[in-house]
Amino acid sequence: MSIYRTHILVPVDEGTVQAGVFEVKRRLEQKITEQGLGNEVKVVESGTVGIVGKGVILVVYPERMYYTNVRPGDVSLIVEEHLLKGRIPPTLKYASLDIQGGLKSLHNTGLTREQKRVVLDKSWKMSPEDIREVLATGGYKAVEKIFTEKMTPEAVIDLIKQSGLRGRGGAGFPTGLKWEATRKAAGDQKYIICNADEGEPGTFKDRLILEGDPHKLIEAMVIGGYAIGATKGYIYVRGEYGLSIQRMQQAIDQAREYSLLGPSVLETGFAFDLQIKIGAGAYICGDETALIESLEGKRGNPRIKPPYPVTNGLWQMPTAVNNVETLANIPEIVNRGAAWFRTMGTDKCSGTKVFTILGHVEQPGLIEVEMGTPLREIIFAYGGGVAGGKKFKAALLGGASGVFLPEKLLDVHMDFESLKENKAVLGSGAVLVMNEATSIPDMLFSILKFYAHETCGQCAPCRIGTHQLLQLAWKLREGQGRVEDIDTMLNLAETMQRTSLCPLGQSVVAPVKSAIDNFRDEFERAAGHSEIS
Ligand code: SF4
Repeated sequence: MSIYRTHILVPVDEGTVQAGVFEVKRRLEQKITEQGLGNEVKVVESGTVGIVGKGVILVVYPERMYYTNVRPGDVSLIVEEHLLKGRIPPTLKYASLDIQGGLKSLHNTGLTREQKRVVLDKSWKMSPEDIREVLATGGYKAVEKIFTEKMTPEAVIDLIKQSGLRGRGGAGFPTGLKWEATRKAAGDQKYIICNADEGEPGTFKDRLILEGDPHKLIEAMVIGGYAIGATKGYIYVRGEYGLSIQRMQQAIDQAREYSLLGPSVLETGFAFDLQIKIGAGAYICGDETALIESLEGKRGNPRIKPPYPVTNGLWQMPTAVNNVETLANIPEIVNRGAAWFRTMGTDKCSGTKVFTILGHVEQPGLIEVEMGTPLREIIFAYGGGVAGGKKFKAALLGGASGVFLPEKLLDVHMDFESLKENKAVLGSGAVLVMNEATSIPDMLFSILKFYAHETCGQCAPCRIGTHQLLQLAWKLREGQGRVEDIDTMLNLAETMQRTSLCPLGQSVVAPVKSAIDNFRDEFERAAGHSEIS
């Protein structure tokens, strides 16, 4: 058996695939062999490192050296200079990493800064396509623990309740309570569903979790199924996520081979299996009831609630619907305990949160930090600040259904309670940064266009309201609006909040109100200060 002195991780995600990662990897392996380094250097395909927009990335261990924007032609230089002579080729790119003082100084810069990784702890350290590597790095230990320690389903639920884990899909509902309600609900057949229909613009955290560590999700669903009494689980994943679907299916097949899924999980007699359902790209199917309708083969229209899915879910049976990120916390909570989980985050909001940083930032990407981390730290310490030396203007938190936060709220802590106090929401965890040149009325127009396109049309307030809002925003943008239209937009959005059937129509008030409340002068300027035109 070889003991390698160097490991080179090659993160493979949708972004790096488009940038030509497989050709770089092929050349790297070829060059390593040619130089006789095959027994010293190992190339490992991994999940994402969280850096986006920087082409193909190579991470060299043990130095933890990040090469970004690597092209096939750069490979010879990396092998000959770095691997053979121990020198960093000065002509290659390290993103915006600071190399002064040598390799160690790279660690605290931008997205490579230390993070608190629970959900993404392993996705960039092993191959997500090889279950042997997953098992060697502690995968499925939590399932094993539950059965070897003979934990009852109630004990598992109690553990999750004690951990304080709350849903990461946006609403923040306690996961343990949801599982408990599903377990207690009457029904011959119960289901657990993973909502991987990530449709929020600017959000790609679920995709990177699915691509980077699909086995963790399977492990979590086995545990969830055992806890609530389900024998069947579904992963509802959006159709555009080709690599996620491929890796998830491969992981399911491998888990079946290893008796981690099937008629008797780990030969315990507990039957549980998973199936992937590919969504057709409707944003509304991110709503749990619309998702369930779609799973049943119907049009993805949201249901009226109550009853909730915990009692009347898939085929009217008790069903727990959990988000990808929520589930990805489960194995480590089982392994390390509720008290450990509570050491991270805030009193009411334990654990970590995955954020996607995008827009006008130096380093767009994905980070996992403790709940309650200040927004300023996320944007400036991790995202590298506003790109091009421009001034910060606003951040849109949580995607299209999120809120515009102005500069004076940059120190807000990113957890459910702190954000609520500031009339904001955590939502999907997307942080879209806007610089001083951004027009907020234009941004709002784009969001309303998205809403008008994605309304399912089932209820009148949303079907009509989204288009009326879009029309008013369009008039303002074109210089044909009136100052009175600004309050009309607010009234309309508030009416939709009260009368719409599902979260889509109810949430449009968030971007509309926060944009107008915080940047009213821009809307008034757009309306030309005219009373009636
Ligand atoms: Fe459909 Fe909008 Fe009504 Fe939701 S609020 S059911 S998306 S029309």
